[in-house]
Amino acid sequence: MPALSLHWFRDDLRLADNPALSAAVAHGPTLFLYILDEGGSRRPLGGASRWWLSRSLAALDFALKAKGCELVLMRGDPGAILPRVVETARIDLVTWSRRYDAESVALDSRLKADLVAAGTKVESFNAALLNEPWQVTTKTGEPMKVFTPYWRAARAAGEPAAPKPAPKHMQSLKLPPAITAMTVSHADLALDPVKPDWAGGLREAWTPGEAAAAERLGEFLSGPLDGYGEGRDRPDRAATSRLSPHLRFGEIGPRQIWHATRSAIESGEASAGSSDAEKFLSEIGWREFSYHLLFYNPDLATRNYNPRFDAFPWRRDDAATRAWQRGLTGYPIVDAGLRELWTTGWMHNRVRMIAASFLIKHLLIDWRHGEDWFWDTLVDADPANNAASWQWVAGSGADAAPYYRIFNPVTQGLKFDPKGLYVRRWIPEIAGLDDTLIHEPWKADADQLHRAGIVLGQTYPRPIVDLDFGRRRALDALAKTRDETRSD
Ligand SMILES: Cc1cc2nc3c(=O)[nH]c(=O)nc-3n(C[C@H](O)[C@H](O)[C@H](O)COP(=O)(O)OP(=O)(O)OC[C@H]3O[C@@H](n4cnc5c(N)ncnc54)[C@H](O)[C@@H]3O)c2cc1C
Repeated sequence: MPALSLHWFRDDLRLADNPALSAAVAHGPTLFLYILDEGGSRRPLGGASRWWLSRSLAALDFALKAKGCELVLMRGDPGAILPRVVETARIDLVTWSRRYDAESVALDSRLKADLVAAGTKVESFNAALLNEPWQVTTKTGEPMKVFTPYWRAARAAGEPAAPKPAPKHMQSLKLPPAITAMTVSHADLALDPVKPDWAGGLREAWTPGEAAAAERLGEFLSGPLDGYGEGRDRPDRAATSRLSPHLRFGEIGPRQIWHATRSAIESGEASAGSSDAEKFLSEIGWREFSYHLLFYNPDLATRNYNPRFDAFPWRRDDAATRAWQRGLTGYPIVDAGLRELWTTGWMHNRVRMIAASFLIKHLLIDWRHGEDWFWDTLVDADPANNAASWQWVAGSGADAAPYYRIFNPVTQGLKFDPKGLYVRRWIPEIAGLDDTLIHEPWKADADQLHRAGIVLGQTYPRPIVDLDFGRRRALDALAKTRDETRSD
């Protein structure tokens, strides 16, 4: 009998720099398996992520076919499916790339114990991070709570390992009929929206898959990386990498990004300076830090990291929450962000901060409602980054924004979208306003509104909350929480 292996694809939908896949392929003919698990304890994927996953699996299947192999799809509980497949197909090595949310860690440990007990070898690897959460700690071995020392310690650990290329030769194992009977087609996964098909904007904006991720990285390094340090805050420019959904689904890994960035700078292929590169890599560092926080705080998406926020006087206001979700708050930069999100499944980081701050602070709505909306609508919805970022904005998180930081959507708009290009792109109904009024249409007089074809309250909403009132209300509530925190 030849040695047979199985690689279980999860959030590592790529062939290059995938050590678990390489180990399986080196072992012998491989079953390349993806299992869509929708009923388990893991948080179900949001709509936009499901769309991405669908396209990403198609791209992975295409890449495997180019190597004479095939992706096998199944649906259900991996805890039950995997042991059955392994036994039926007489697999002797199972490999996977590790995940770091508590439900996955528990599932993996259980599965590993079951498979090993049945005589199968199991090997897991790191494909998602530069450093796994437990590899960066304080001198006394405690989890880190602040980004700067975290990143300093991570950097001191040395250069990440060089990425490995995709295996040259791969062979799919011939499926026994009993395994074929367990498979489903791509269409059976029902990941794409149908009635209605709302994914037109996503299709226009993105090409999921490993090849597209590599191309996007190359374009970023030879272009926007130059000036990234300043440009990354400008939603009116294409100045960031837009790699987030590719990273989320593991179509590219941080080791690949790290080394490609370094070598583009060193070879002079990128015109950017090393400070732009350092800034970019430190954002990859924030992703690492978020995973560190998630690993040590498994309920990061549902519980305040700082428990003092448990008594915070959140308001329930369904009408305001809906207006925020639909981009109808009357504050153009907030509305533009929410509409960009709805149409493309992505929002610029600066605008994510402004929009989140507006919901949490000006509207006093619990950050978990915002986190949930992002989870459903972002193509990069990430269990670590989303939860950590929302808690950061709320002030309830580790190394969070100071409680008194309340982004003013008008001054933020004027500073980071000075000509209103971003706002005009997403809110065409106010595009006719001058640059001076584009971030505060309610200040336009009757003549200016008329000339721009705007009827406030009809074609574009009036502000749903007064900024000064909202700010004072938030500061009062936050100051109380801070005072209580101080009594610790
Ligand atoms: C309220 C809020 C929610 C967010 N939710 C998510 C989310 O669900 N998924 C997600 O990937 N990012 C999230 N972010 C972080 C950030 O906005 C996105 O990672 C970034 O906008 C993605 O665009 P990019 O790939 O062009 O980033 P770039 O600027 O090119 O950065 C490169 C990579 O670094 C990582 N990164 C950048 N900024 C951050 C950050 N602040 N925290 C953690 N990692 C970061 C991302 O993986 C990103 O792809 C959130 C931020 C906020 C304020």
